[in-house]
Amino acid sequence: MDKLKEYINEIKDFPKDGIVFKDINPIYKNPKIWDELMLPLQKLISSIRPDFIAGIESRGFISASALAFTEKVGFIPIRKANKLPGKVVSSNYQLEYGEDRLEIQMNSFEKDSRIIVIDDLLATGGTANAAGKLIRKAGGDLIGYAFLVELSELRGRCNLDSNLQIESIIRY
Ligand code: AMP
Repeated sequence: MDKLKEYINEIKDFPKDGIVFKDINPIYKNPKIWDELMLPLQKLISSIRPDFIAGIESRGFISASALAFTEKVGFIPIRKANKLPGKVVSSNYQLEYGEDRLEIQMNSFEKDSRIIVIDDLLATGGTANAAGKLIRKAGGDLIGYAFLVELSELRGRCNLDSNLQIESIIRY
């Protein structure tokens, strides 16, 4: 999968100083390359057969919804605070400076539905951990996580439940 790194641009100091942003948009522009990236994720979904794929706003929506569509699995959006209409379940998490909140719509799924959380990138794991807590708080059976990219040196996996299946496709 290292070949796919040719399609990831590194943008220094974005969105703020000190961050090297991994821009994976060139992958989405190239259907053959996107297909290569999706293939292992499709295999994963067809082997674990979740009831739902939950994608994290906003870059997580791209592959999570494409995957849900091709694999005929329901899609649930996990959104930032105050974006979803109606009653929501929410989970706060710590950012470098301050706090943020993720939400899903209440009654998005039946109790104990098997759910995998998908995001574009695993860095410190704070976002994914909050998303997983949210799924559990809403009564879901969190079965795992999948990421397109993992920044291994940030050890985000250590912030996630180690009993779960945690997959990533491109590792740095
Ligand atoms: P974290 O909570 O630290 O694991 O950060 C993961 C979230 O932040 C994901 O939704 C990513 O889209 C975004 N993110 C964090 N670091 C980067 C990075 N270096 N390049 C691109 N996206 C990033």
